[in-house]
Amino acid sequence: MARPRTRRRLAARLRNPQCRNRSHRNHAGSRTVTPTDSKFEVAVLGAGIAGSTLAAILARHEVKVLLIDSGTHPRFAIGESTIPYATSTMHVLAERYRVPELAPLSNFKDTATHVSTMCGQKQNFGFVYHEPDAPPAAEKANQVMVPIWWRTEAHWFRQDIDTYVFNQAVRYGAVPRLNTCISDIGVDPHSGAELRTSSGETFTAEYLVDATGFRSVLAERFGLREVPTRARTHSRSLFTHMIGVEPYDDVAPLRYGQPSRWHDGTLHHVFDGGWLWVIPFDNHDSSKNPLCSVGLTLTGAAALADREAPDKEFADFLRRFPAVAEQFRTAKAVRPWVSTGRLQYSATDTVGDRFCLTAQSAGAVDALFSRGLANSFQTVNALAWRLIAAAREKDWSTERFVGVDAIQQRMFDMHDDLAYSSYVAFRDYDLWNVMIRVWDTFNFYTEAALAHTFSRYQTTGDDELFRTHERLDSGLAAMMRELLATARTTCEAVDRGELTPGDAAATLRAHLEQGRFWPTYMPQGKPDTRYFYTNPDLTTQFMYWTRTEAPQRIREYFA
Ligand SMILES: Cc1cc2nc3c(=O)[nH]c(=O)nc-3n(C[C@H](O)[C@H](O)[C@H](O)COP(=O)(O)OP(=O)(O)OC[C@H]3O[C@@H](n4cnc5c(N)ncnc54)[C@H](O)[C@@H]3O)c2cc1C
Repeated sequence: MARPRTRRRLAARLRNPQCRNRSHRNHAGSRTVTPTDSKFEVAVLGAGIAGSTLAAILARHEVKVLLIDSGTHPRFAIGESTIPYATSTMHVLAERYRVPELAPLSNFKDTATHVSTMCGQKQNFGFVYHEPDAPPAAEKANQVMVPIWWRTEAHWFRQDIDTYVFNQAVRYGAVPRLNTCISDIGVDPHSGAELRTSSGETFTAEYLVDATGFRSVLAERFGLREVPTRARTHSRSLFTHMIGVEPYDDVAPLRYGQPSRWHDGTLHHVFDGGWLWVIPFDNHDSSKNPLCSVGLTLTGAAALADREAPDKEFADFLRRFPAVAEQFRTAKAVRPWVSTGRLQYSATDTVGDRFCLTAQSAGAVDALFSRGLANSFQTVNALAWRLIAAAREKDWSTERFVGVDAIQQRMFDMHDDLAYSSYVAFRDYDLWNVMIRVWDTFNFYTEAALAHTFSRYQTTGDDELFRTHERLDSGLAAMMRELLATARTTCEAVDRGELTPGDAAATLRAHLEQGRFWPTYMPQGKPDTRYFYTNPDLTTQFMYWTRTEAPQRIREYFA
């Protein structure tokens, strides 16, 4: 149900810290904007990957788009590890909206060939569990392989990827205004948005999309932030890019026997209180990038504590975990560490009269499980067809967009359930070992559902299939929500001290078994298997199972 909204005129004088010391001279894209160029159908504020992807699609469909950013390209951006849902959605965007230039971003090989030689491959999600001042144990490690015969995910060197997508938006006709600071903004429910730049130019647009990310102009200036956030997850991060990071495979004090090299994927060093990501860009023959993205995310008391300088905090962390430290013996940061405040924020409304926030502007949960890009592209997918139709029909009524709010709020809550439950599970390996199965089950079925819809679309060309899919009202989607809700309530009981981690693990294991998400021959269906890898034959057998013997709600979806 859409929330009731008041119709209002929003206006504010903006104080963007990025703009404060900037000269009023405009360094925007090559095009000089004349007064007749100042009227647009859609203004996209924020030319990051979400804003640029949306602008490319809209411009491709002859919507008159303005794409404004206070910064420029190329520039550093975080959010580097892709997941199948993100890249599959990118593939959907490329075909559904006929923007073939987006297709190379749907798999590592094409990205490396057509977009950038600075990205890494992601052939697995690796999780190695650590206890402070104790050697790691071989039986406390998990890996979910992305089978090479199926696909290869990527470690995006974002400055290249974002520049590429931005350039495509401009190529299709979006009018770029980089290095452009907005000093005043007005949104009128009847006439749309008016944007004034600090250099004195004025732009109008029928509709305003705020893709400015965590400093969302509209959310923060017009009071859309939920205070306090409803997120249960509470964490903060420090991150940088490093050179000289040793592959964990080469320095680990023991052999784990996992199917894929840790360094060929995104490695999560997990411990009670947080996790460390290692995202190599240097892990493929085609890569010319010697760097790794490294980030430490902390929860609990450490998330609240006064912070030391991030390099010192990282060094302290390494002292507590000597096995992890081996990876960083010769590593050096090549750019200053970024130390964030609390990562979580949310919005009461992500859609209003004549405006919409994209996913990262609306809210964020955590880097854990790399869901940010997936959420961003899902929002773009839901927003693009609505905006194209609104521009064609000259009808920008809010009712057309409320579905986007429902999608974004749901994405936020599901990610929060996953991240919150995982942080609780980090306290005890047995619980974490089950929580990984919860995440993998969710991860697998949500992507499989999208892939199924996409394949039917490719056969029929029926766009309605995507509109049905985005409503997430299938029995399968309900199963996923129930699974995450069970994980959350179980972990909340652990948090309150009402349940031991062992009992919580048993509860979740029972839910997975009773739900029959997996046949027993699949690795996820075997309680003792910690490395999930399937071959094509097993996968074919499994896909047949989803149509024949699986529980009804799974069968119905894939029939
Ligand atoms: C620590 C961390 C780790 C993450 N790791 C992952 C990961 O591994 N995988 C994953 O999928 N996601 C990850 N994410 C999420 C990911 O970063 C986001 O999903 C993604 O970057 C969102 O892209 P965007 O274009 O919406 O926002 P951004 O990339 O933030 O782009 C926003 C743009 O708006 C511009 N802007 C800002 N303010 C203004 C203004 N006032 N006026 C004009 N322009 C403005 C900025 O210059 C920028 O270009 C991570 C997030 C964090 C915080």
